[in-house]
Amino acid sequence: MVPYFSVKEYHPEAPDFEKFGPPSTRRVVEGEACMETFFGTSLFGIQMCLESDWFKVRKKSIQVVMDNHAFNGLYFDWCMGLECINPEHNHGKRHWDNDKLLEFIEWSRALAGDKGKLYLHLTNVPSLALENMGDMILTEETEYFDIFPEMFTPHVHFLNIAPRSICVMLPGATPVQLRKLALVTLLHHATLCVDVGCPQSTFDLYNDHAKDLAEFTKYEHHTAPGEGIVRTDSDKVGMSLYWKGNKGLIVLANLTEETQDGEWSIRMNGKILCGMAEVPALDFITIPVEL
Ligand SMILES: [Zn+2]
Repeated sequence: MVPYFSVKEYHPEAPDFEKFGPPSTRRVVEGEACMETFFGTSLFGIQMCLESDWFKVRKKSIQVVMDNHAFNGLYFDWCMGLECINPEHNHGKRHWDNDKLLEFIEWSRALAGDKGKLYLHLTNVPSLALENMGDMILTEETEYFDIFPEMFTPHVHFLNIAPRSICVMLPGATPVQLRKLALVTLLHHATLCVDVGCPQSTFDLYNDHAKDLAEFTKYEHHTAPGEGIVRTDSDKVGMSLYWKGNKGLIVLANLTEETQDGEWSIRMNGKILCGMAEVPALDFITIPVEL
């Protein structure tokens, strides 16, 4: 179990906010008030800048929690360097707090220890340095308007330094919607960041296919939908491909509630391979291929 912390937010009702909060706020427009972040009508906190005393305050508060509880790691939201013009920071010069962010995560990595886990939120802000320190990258924390094979950003799989988990941003989602989302997620070599409220059918996908998922890790390369290497003749059946040398493994995921028959193709090394497959409703299959 790990505790959640925001790297950038400080709640105004927190002890010592009056002392440390106002001088440490992030400012982006001269003369304008500090920035508040909300979820619905609930205030998460005021945005802070790490090029200020907030750096020490945040570390101290984390140290207190870790000294008093047996957590085995840390979970951080807002892992992003941001610009700030607060004249009380950085000798009054406009600045970006990315260096402090890296220093902060390095400190957190050491605090979590070799066996501790570090979970980092990195939606829209890919970072090689941060990913090298993370055990799990939480990404795609964005509202979805449709579920389809190409719905995610390339960040989900193009670095692949640490495992990826997709944030489920579907309030009130039905079991079918969650199952579809889990299937698209697998096409991108990631898993869903499911919570205890998710129906069993979401977990069943992983449990029922544990053997297939273990196979994925035996390959060196992966391509996701929308990258131009693999395609199907249906926008409701997504395809990805793992390969190592000339050994490949096709993954076909059916996002509909009916069995689908169709064609798949691979365009690689100047060759086109194609074939037909039947994929069960709301499920996926794998097919070994010689490339
Ligand atoms: Zn600042």
